[in-house]
Amino acid sequence: MTIEKLISRRDLPDDDLLHLLETGDDVLVRQLLEGAFRVKVAHKGKEVLRRGLIEWSNVCRNDCMYCGIRRSRKVQRYSLTPEQILDCCRRVADAGIGTFVLQGGENPAGALELVPVVKAIRERWPRHAITLSLGELPFETYRLLREAGANRYLLRHETANPLHYSRLHPASMLLESRLACLQELRRLGFEVGMGMMVGSPFQTPSHLLEDIRLIQRFGPEMIGIGPFIPQADTPFASFPAGSADTTLRLIAILRLMLPDANIPSTTALAVLAGGKDAGLEAGANVVMPVFTPDTVKNQYDLYIGKHNV
Ligand code: SAH
Repeated sequence: MTIEKLISRRDLPDDDLLHLLETGDDVLVRQLLEGAFRVKVAHKGKEVLRRGLIEWSNVCRNDCMYCGIRRSRKVQRYSLTPEQILDCCRRVADAGIGTFVLQGGENPAGALELVPVVKAIRERWPRHAITLSLGELPFETYRLLREAGANRYLLRHETANPLHYSRLHPASMLLESRLACLQELRRLGFEVGMGMMVGSPFQTPSHLLEDIRLIQRFGPEMIGIGPFIPQADTPFASFPAGSADTTLRLIAILRLMLPDANIPSTTALAVLAGGKDAGLEAGANVVMPVFTPDTVKNQYDLYIGKHNV
């Protein structure tokens, strides 16, 4: 009954959503996941979309409590050269993949250096999609990257609750600024992706409800959700990982609320769920295989086990 209502109305009252997140009723959960799979196939087809992920640099100015490439963690820093990036793109294109995703730490100077690289990618592959995930940048830099030919941008909001946000990030970072970036990216004509970590320290079910409502209001083209996984030598090193089960429920709920969104089965989920299939069966329709060169891959170690799936 609840699931049918969610499918037909693309919405539920807060209490019902919280119940879906918390219930021990396996039958209900199975109905949720199966319903999401059906709606995915109806709206997005059976095909799993592939995006080639290129982790272009781990240089970052931020100090997010959870992240393995936070500024104050001792890891060797790298940035791929323009030639290396173009070479990664070639491998992505050769694999028959139509989308390049350039992701990296938040580094405004580095992002500016990417402008001519994006231009070169656009010229060489005029019909490919170019997705960027470079954090919060000056609006002018977003504009230049868009003009150079980038057409999608992933910027997770991480949590929709300002107080919770302040416990995951240093005082210099504000949820408000992140949301302003998402608005600006949309205004510039990017397809926009947002999303949160599930089970990050101090998170409550009502925070997740706020995440659902924020995503519903914003209506992004892409939704990236993954469980928190601790990383050594970060302030959150000894917190437990988030729940794969809750992550799957959230993927399913959001698939039913935004049936046309592109939702990846994320690597972090695959680490906990033993592969990407569980996410795809719960309503995700995208996978992002990694094309970062082996020589630097292990330096982009956001969380434990990232490169073991
Ligand atoms: N600098 C870019 C890209 C960040 S890395 C940005 O700020 O958007 C991409 C995503 O990895 C982050 O948005 C975060 O949600 C996720 N991530 C980072 N550390 C993590 C951890 N310990 N466990 C799970 N996900 C993590």
